[in-house]
Amino acid sequence: MSLLAKRSIIKEDKSNIITLGAIAKEEKKKDPSVINATIGMYYDEEGKLVTYNSVDKALFELTSDEKYAYASTPGSNSYHEALKRWVFRQYYDEFMKNTYVGVMATPGGSGAISNTFTNYLNEGDMVLLPNYMWGNYKQFAYENHASYTTYNLFKNGKLDIEDIRKKAYELKEKQNRVLLVINDPCQNPTGYTMSDVEWKMIIDLVNEIANSGTPFILLHDMAYIDYDKRGFESTRQNMRLYEKLSKNALVILAFSGSKTLALYGIRIGAQIAISTNEENIIEFNRANKFSSRAKWSNATNLGANLISKVILDDKLREKFESELNDARNILIKRANTFIAESKKVGLETLPFDCGFFITIPCNNPDLVYKKLVEKKIHIIPLDNVLRVTISAITVEECKILPKIIKECM
Ligand code: PLP
Repeated sequence: MSLLAKRSIIKEDKSNIITLGAIAKEEKKKDPSVINATIGMYYDEEGKLVTYNSVDKALFELTSDEKYAYASTPGSNSYHEALKRWVFRQYYDEFMKNTYVGVMATPGGSGAISNTFTNYLNEGDMVLLPNYMWGNYKQFAYENHASYTTYNLFKNGKLDIEDIRKKAYELKEKQNRVLLVINDPCQNPTGYTMSDVEWKMIIDLVNEIANSGTPFILLHDMAYIDYDKRGFESTRQNMRLYEKLSKNALVILAFSGSKTLALYGIRIGAQIAISTNEENIIEFNRANKFSSRAKWSNATNLGANLISKVILDDKLREKFESELNDARNILIKRANTFIAESKKVGLETLPFDCGFFITIPCNNPDLVYKKLVEKKIHIIPLDNVLRVTISAITVEECKILPKIIKECM
């Protein structure tokens, strides 16, 4: 008889991203000609993991206390200030005036998602996820005694807003609360980025349901926001819609230090909650502090202080922004190359705008994965798609991959 508790017997990390990523890394170590397009980290054109010099410089300036002392559970005031300034950017003053904001430091965006599922789903509730998704959302749901249902991400190449509406109303009827996850911009795995009109329709829906008396929580997973080809300013524009939220609604931004500052292994991020109702933020702070304490006690002081330093020091921030701009431009070049070659060889891709990944519809992804491995190419097979991580490969590799993938299909 299993010694595991009942709910734990079926637990198995079925995500192949980490496992297949490790295999690819091993193969590449043995043979540098291997193409490793698996794991969501950003590599330069020489195949080296990118470290931002401004972030590295800030690291060397941290004192022992700033690096090694315990952090407070929610994170310091300066961490909160840095994140609000970074995320709201040109609308910082507006947000401070028109909304209430709460910040909770977490281990990566993962911690932010986990805490949100813990505190905004009742036992047995369903969270509303996209049908093409970062698979870990499902595990966060199970771990938090909840389950999930999905909305169609696309209809005719655009966001399937009608399906989101339909599913949200079903959840309203079933459980009288809606927790909707939107991963935008640069959605993982497709690279889709919602238009201004689509954002407006989502927020109208949030307010409509919230005003009818059903609590609506929108988890905006913005892990890739700083790699959006439109640049810092435009990506913050849609967030202004949050200033007009219904008092019965809450938006939680999941911020990832892994992606924005390339601090993957440091494990730092945050939940940033926005509401027009102060009570929602007081509750948010109380419950999420409790959960953080119960799960990981506090996030890494080193990571939070590093982020505060880079963002609050004008010189470092400017340097960091220019490094991020360079990284983004290389990603755009890779994406343009991959998409142009795909068109040339007739390889279909799901709607893509920008980001770390491009996704190819595929009926037999596992078989195609095996064929590609024989050709020393490692990608990630998911449910009826292949995910190619363009953040991890070079422009030259983006040029040759579409044809080989097409042949293997
Ligand atoms: N959200 C998405 C869509 C992701 O792809 C990832 C990581 O791959 C995360 C959130 C969380 O990353 P981290 O916990 O490292 O911040």
